[in-house]
Amino acid sequence: MQSKLRFAPSPTGNLHIGSVRTAIFNWVWAKKLKAKLVLRIEDTDLERSKKEFEDNINEGLSWLGIHFDEGPGQALSGQKYRQSERIKANVYQPYLDKLINTGHAYYCFESDEELAAERAEAEKKGVPYIYSRRSLMYTPEEVAQKRAANMPYTIRFKVPNSKQITLNDEIRGNIEFDSNLFSDFIIVKSDGYPTYNFAVVVDDYEMGITHVVRGEDHISNTPKQIMIYNALEWEAPRFAHLPIILGEDRSKLSKRHGAKSVSEYKDAGFLPHALINYLSLLGWSPPEGKELLAIDELMELFEINRINKAGAVFDTVKLTWMNKQYLSKLDDEAFLSWVKPFLSKSNQELDALDLKILSVRDNVEVLSRINHYLEVFTLTTTAFFERFKQLAVNETDQLVIHHARKYLLDLSEWSNETVSDLIQHLMTELSLGKGKVMKPLRKSFTGYESGPNLVDCLALIPKSEILKRLDLVISYVST
Ligand code: GLU
Repeated sequence: MQSKLRFAPSPTGNLHIGSVRTAIFNWVWAKKLKAKLVLRIEDTDLERSKKEFEDNINEGLSWLGIHFDEGPGQALSGQKYRQSERIKANVYQPYLDKLINTGHAYYCFESDEELAAERAEAEKKGVPYIYSRRSLMYTPEEVAQKRAANMPYTIRFKVPNSKQITLNDEIRGNIEFDSNLFSDFIIVKSDGYPTYNFAVVVDDYEMGITHVVRGEDHISNTPKQIMIYNALEWEAPRFAHLPIILGEDRSKLSKRHGAKSVSEYKDAGFLPHALINYLSLLGWSPPEGKELLAIDELMELFEINRINKAGAVFDTVKLTWMNKQYLSKLDDEAFLSWVKPFLSKSNQELDALDLKILSVRDNVEVLSRINHYLEVFTLTTTAFFERFKQLAVNETDQLVIHHARKYLLDLSEWSNETVSDLIQHLMTELSLGKGKVMKPLRKSFTGYESGPNLVDCLALIPKSEILKRLDLVISYVST
């Protein structure tokens, strides 16, 4: 049988980091299994589901290069991939009828108040709430009467008594559940819409899904789904529940920890491969522990049983480091084409733009920082001086600065070579190591403590501007 996996986001928010990691593991495992990959939009929550979120999910996935064999954009004939459309097409009704006719589901007529009273009673006794099955007492005639009288109802799944439900999880091994601990759960809400647990089983069955990969927050749903599979006499797919993603304080990752949507990472200038690589290591690692993995390598090395059970900590610093590694691997041409959309309007008009960008490229951790590094060329003399005044300058620094100015005044040319010569000259003349010379030069030429390759970028600043900066610096440090 053709293996098939699916990614089933709910469009109730932008594509976020946790969700996209699920997409990545589905995608990678599907490739490994030579399986098909389906995109299904779970939009049964009418109030919270929005088209703009579905668009954001699609854009994020395609920016990452995650493509699907089936989905709203590539529908097999007759198949629908949005749950809202499937509801309209009455996909769930025959299965619901079957569950009712075989006694696995029943109408529940209690009002919200009655159910709340039951719940309160359980709470008073300090026992977990389990629905009383009061509606199960009605005869078929009574049920027909209530329905004819348009009495509101939900439909509940009748949980089998005293059954061990085994979830054989690909990551966690066997997890046993006692059916007696489950209340008869609702599979159709009073608005007539199927609930997640029912819709997902029907959809996975109809779409021929063989492997379900999703977050561990769904583990409590899986036994309910297994019970529905059993009742409908369908074989359940294989399940793999991914470990939770934690913030640095080891609580569940949230906005507070800087958890952002994929579009925010894209806009900040992360590369899609860096994001994929980093997220694939959240809960998984290849046998040799290698960290930088090209997509092909990831596909090749991936094994589902190497996914951990323990929560994985999301570390923005590590992700940023990884992005810098990926940026440094780009050739100049590729770097320029990635970075240019991030340039501010005024930087787009810089002369010798490509050279300037390339002279600072080694410093760029995320593409949007390019404007910060280009400041070395665009800073006004006054702004430079304000920045310089914040820096500490010691006696050796002053000595270097004075000698540099003298050397520069005599210089007729200004190029990479002359900058290198200047550094060499100062090292020899003052018997100083390279670091001792570079530091004050960087401060007094650029106003920064650290930054881009000095030799490359200085040659792109007019010598007259450098001298102006030096004059200001010297008058400041001499007073
Ligand atoms: N729509 C569910 C979610 O976004 C996915 C559930 C599943 O994968 O079964 O959490």
